[in-house]
Amino acid sequence: MTREISRRSLFKASVVGAAAAGAATVSNAASAAEKGRTETYDVVVIGCGCAGMAAAIEAKNAGAKVCILDKMPRPSGNTIFSGGIINAAGTYVQKQEGVNDSLDAFYADMMKVSQGRGDPALTKMYVEKSADAVQWLTSECGIKFRRLEKESWPMLQRGHVVDGPLKPHGAQLAKQMLDRVKALGIPVFFNTKVIEITRSEVLHATGVKAVDEDEELVTFKARGGVIVCTGGFHNNKELICRYMCVPSSQNQPLFDAKSFVSWLVFSGCHGNLQSLFHQRVA
Ligand SMILES: Cc1cc2nc3c(=O)[nH]c(=O)nc-3n(C[C@H](O)[C@H](O)[C@H](O)COP(=O)(O)OP(=O)(O)OC[C@H]3O[C@@H](n4cnc5c(N)ncnc54)[C@H](O)[C@@H]3O)c2cc1C
Repeated sequence: MTREISRRSLFKASVVGAAAAGAATVSNAASAAEKGRTETYDVVVIGCGCAGMAAAIEAKNAGAKVCILDKMPRPSGNTIFSGGIINAAGTYVQKQEGVNDSLDAFYADMMKVSQGRGDPALTKMYVEKSADAVQWLTSECGIKFRRLEKESWPMLQRGHVVDGPLKPHGAQLAKQMLDRVKALGIPVFFNTKVIEITRSEVLHATGVKAVDEDEELVTFKARGGVIVCTGGFHNNKELICRYMCVPSSQNQPLFDAKSFVSWLVFSGCHGNLQSLFHQRVA
C-alpha cells in the first residue's frame, strides 16, 4: 500500500507538477525520486520489440553503453504477434531465387495499396532501405527466410517470411533478435515501466524515470540520448481518431468500413496489410 501511494505520488510529481498536487506530497515524492537507484548509460532504449532491439544492437555495435527497458516480463508488443513478414525489394533472397524486382515498382505498389495516402518520403525511405534491413537481420541476427511465395499483394515475391519453429513468425523474429541482444551483453530490464523522460532546460532528453518490478523508482541517465520504441497506439481509440479516422458523429459508428481500412493502412502494419486484415477481420 505504501509503495502504491508513493508510486502514484511520484507520477503526479513528474507529470502534474507542484502547482496541482499538495505541496507536502510533491516535495516528499521529489526527494524519494532523488533517493531512488540510478543507472547511467550512453543510450537508453524504451521497448523491447523489433525496433528497440534493432536500435540497441546498432548502438552497441557503434560502441555505446546501451540498455533496453520494457514494462512487460518479456517482449510483448506487436512484434511477437506479427506475421513476421518483411516486405522488401532488391534483397539477397530475391536474387538467390531469380526474382527480378525494382524499387520503383515496389514504391508504386506501396502507394497503390495505401490508395495514395502513404507518406511519400517515408514510403521512399522504407523501399530504399528494405533490402539492407533483410540483409541485416540475416547477418546480425542469423535470421533465415522461407522460400518466397507469389501473392496477390504485395505483388511479385516481396514477402520475406521469417523461418523457424515459432509461430507466428514474428515470435521467431523476436526470439532471435533477443538472442542477439543477450549475446552482445546488452542489459534488458523487463518489468520496468518508463513513466517519464527527463530533459535538460533546452529540452534535450537526459534519461528516463521508471518503476521496476519491486515498484521502486529507478532513474536511468542517458548521456547520449533516449530512443523511444514503445510501439503504436492501436489500442487507443482517441489517438486513432485524432490522427487517422474520418470524422465521426454520434449517429455513426466509430469505425466505418472506409476508416477501418485507412486505420490498417496507416497503422504501422504496412509491412503486411493483407495478413493483418485477415487476422483481425476475417
Ligand atoms: C497481428 C499483427 C500482425 C502483423 N504482421 C506484420 C507483418 O507480417 N509484417 C510487418 O512488417 N508488420 C506486421 N505488423 C506490424 C508490426 O508487428 C509492428 O509494426 C512492429 O512489430 C512494431 O514493433 P515495435 O518494436 O515498434 O513495437 P512493439 O513490438 O509493439 O514493442 C513495443 C514494446 O514497448 C514496450 N513498452 C510500451 N510502453 C512502455 C513503457 N512505458 N515502458 C517500457 N516499455 C514499454 C511494450 O511492452 C513492448 O514490448 C503486424 C501487427 C499485428 C498487430
